[in-house]
Amino acid sequence: MENIVIAGAGQGGLQAAISLRQDGFTGRITLIGGEKGLPYQRPPLSKTYLKSGDAAALRLRPATFFAKSDIELIDGLWVDHIDRKAQIVQAGDRVFPYDHLILATGTRNLRPPIPGRDRALDLRTLEDASRLRAALERPKRCAVIGGGFIGLEFAAVAALLGHAVTIAEAAPRLMARAVSPAMSEQFRALHHDLGTATYLNAPVTEVTEDGITLQDGTVISADVVLVAAGVRPNTQLAEAACLPVDNGIVVDACLLTQDPAISALGDCAVFPDPNTGRPIRLESVQAATDHARLIARRITGKSCDPYAAVPWFWSDQADAKLQIAGLAGPDDEALTGADGTVWRFAGDRLSAVETVNNAKTHMQARKRLAGAPIDRASLVAAGMDINAV
Ligand SMILES: Cc1cc2nc3c(=O)[nH]c(=O)nc-3n(C[C@H](O)[C@H](O)[C@H](O)COP(=O)(O)OP(=O)(O)OC[C@H]3O[C@@H](n4cnc5c(N)ncnc54)[C@H](O)[C@@H]3O)c2cc1C
Repeated sequence: MENIVIAGAGQGGLQAAISLRQDGFTGRITLIGGEKGLPYQRPPLSKTYLKSGDAAALRLRPATFFAKSDIELIDGLWVDHIDRKAQIVQAGDRVFPYDHLILATGTRNLRPPIPGRDRALDLRTLEDASRLRAALERPKRCAVIGGGFIGLEFAAVAALLGHAVTIAEAAPRLMARAVSPAMSEQFRALHHDLGTATYLNAPVTEVTEDGITLQDGTVISADVVLVAAGVRPNTQLAEAACLPVDNGIVVDACLLTQDPAISALGDCAVFPDPNTGRPIRLESVQAATDHARLIARRITGKSCDPYAAVPWFWSDQADAKLQIAGLAGPDDEALTGADGTVWRFAGDRLSAVETVNNAKTHMQARKRLAGAPIDRASLVAAGMDINAV
């Protein structure tokens, strides 16, 4: 194989290029990113960057790295077409032939179809974050549409910077897709203690010049409105190329699409959960970078093992570091230990562990989840406090 093209120069796309070189690939690597500038990390955009404004600190690699590693980085160029038969991608008026194509196109923000939504700001790119930072230069009333990770991280920073913050969440609890009801409640209390007002079961029906309106008619005054209502995977290229797409680009356990010359990774890829076989799509740095490493190993012939990494995730909100190891289904049982750790079970099998400021238990959980399935009795036998509350 001579020629690898990577569409999307975010966390996973860059890691794929790095890992290919580390694993000994000597052919040409072309990394094409739609955003301008060097690849950067997104997690700090809703955390430290809002306070520091230090964009240089977000860069994943310096400019010199690309020349040194013989990786051709083309920024500010959107890939707009894949010709699978000819094995070329088109980007503007340029054409790039490939022997293997890696789709690493990530996600875009979901903007719910509510009147006035154009008045609300987004938080996905560095450009979004710097706009939001500028809007917070003076004391403001901020309304956040969406009580998921990004909305809550922003809310915590804004409250600590002295802004008056209100969160409106359509679901009955915060971070409902990702954590147990007990953990949602711990974080609702945390934001309450920061002085933030949280409205649950509260879909927003309009963004006005003065703020937001909730479905029950409540009007919340705000100078800055952030919409953080989830994302959609960027599957348009794959779809137009007639690759299967179902809430993401469908790949097998080795992250190959139906076309053996095209892989997909990270936020845009749907792959079989190693534990349950059900199709899942993860939005995390860990998944994107682990996917990239697996694809590089497969392409360089180092290993053909299917993807089996234990998912893990973190979110920093004020002084609380939430860490999640594993992946729980929505109906998995939740048992809370005395230290606030939440143990999730699918039947009798441990599926996930949610901790706050408890790196030790999080790391232990990752190790345990990487081994053979664990049941409650073996956790208790190992001295774990899984059911104190
Ligand atoms: C504000 C914020 C906070 C986050 N916090 C956390 C966190 O605390 N922990 C965590 O694990 N994860 C966090 N995430 C999620 C994490 O950043 C993503 O899961 C990770 O970046 C996924 O990597 P990726 O390579 O799949 O996608 P991305 O890093 O999003 O990269 C995709 C890139 O592809 C480009 N692209 C798309 N289409 C094209 C095209 N046609 N041509 C060329 N380029 C294209 C996009 O512009 C983008 O730069 C956060 C995300 C955001 C936005």
